[in-house]
Amino acid sequence: MVETVPGLEKYTADMKAWRHDLHAHPETAFEEQRTSDVVAGKLESFGLEVHRGLARTGVVGILRNGEGPSVAFRADMDALHIDEQTNLPHASRHAGRMHACGHDGHTTMLLGAARYLAENPNFQGSIAFVFQPAEENEGGGRVMVEEGLFEQFPVTEVYGMHNWPGLDVGRMAMRPGPMMASYDVFELTLTGKGTHAAMPHLGTDVIVAGTQIVNAWQTIASRNTHPVDSAVVSVTQFHAGDTWNVIPASAVLRGTTRSFRAEVQDTIERRMREIAQAIATVMGVEASFRYERRYPSTVNTADATEKARRAAARVVGTEALDLDPMPSMGAEDFSFMLQKRPGCYVWLGAGPSDGGRNLHSPHYDFNDEVLPIGASYWVRLAETVLPKAG
Ligand SMILES: [Zn+2]
Ligand SMILES: [Zn+2]
Repeated sequence: MVETVPGLEKYTADMKAWRHDLHAHPETAFEEQRTSDVVAGKLESFGLEVHRGLARTGVVGILRNGEGPSVAFRADMDALHIDEQTNLPHASRHAGRMHACGHDGHTTMLLGAARYLAENPNFQGSIAFVFQPAEENEGGGRVMVEEGLFEQFPVTEVYGMHNWPGLDVGRMAMRPGPMMASYDVFELTLTGKGTHAAMPHLGTDVIVAGTQIVNAWQTIASRNTHPVDSAVVSVTQFHAGDTWNVIPASAVLRGTTRSFRAEVQDTIERRMREIAQAIATVMGVEASFRYERRYPSTVNTADATEKARRAAARVVGTEALDLDPMPSMGAEDFSFMLQKRPGCYVWLGAGPSDGGRNLHSPHYDFNDEVLPIGASYWVRLAETVLPKAG
């Protein structure tokens, strides 16, 4: 049984209106100017101390109530480069930009909680409400950390949340340890000697070499990493050739890898390079391999996860908690904050994921039903992680 925080229901209509406004005006990585203005304006109107400029469009609102520990609650503000196809009244006003991951909802729920807690400060200490840009691809969370988020706001713990289609409304999931995977990208350029397709013996073939490399890379997960460890190597692009009867002189392969542990990440990078170089040598072509680390894995600490569990149980009930969910091989740049501070990242049930209701679909829309549930979680979390007001 969901029990939202009594008194929060009077903000529900407002939260819905804020969410629809943000949804209609999506902004992508580091360009969240309007969103940042809206967030800062609301935080100021609730009476919070507002700091702007970290990672360009980042906003941090500080709510203090006496002396005590400090914690950070984080939401993301950015949209994706997707053409929205929902036809909703609040659909994106900007072609090619869309809130298809629900960050409009995340921002709204954290704003709702900030407003409630400013009016009902049932805690002692301070809360940093962190609104970060560029969660998708560009690592706005990393930039905030690099630009001194935790030096400027010395919190002891950080907490994050993502709406999760596929998990029923009224359920939440969390686990100590890895919750989301690391996210890296790679590019392999093969250079050979192009030739007439009918006279392959006169050249060296980058396509035959490339296909063997793609296949051999699949043995990394099955033969180089511990069977119990998770590893994904996905080639998502293979560009070569222009016509029917010419073996091309070059090929470019790109893709992404995922894992949970740094040792596995190291193994994947090392083996990809070794395999590409060895096969290229055997096949008489040249290989140039570039591997770029993007996001580390999102790893929850045990103590903070227990606090998140207690807060979530007060909102959705113990039976509605999934405490050992299968971690996702998706990635999340909240991981950079979790590398610096203990904390917990949770999933908030958002209902069915079919029929375009999944994250990053052009038909997706954040489920407004969960606005008061997510905001209630933040409120209960504040009351759980900070001492009660004296
Ligand atoms: Zn996303
Ligand atoms: Zn997201």
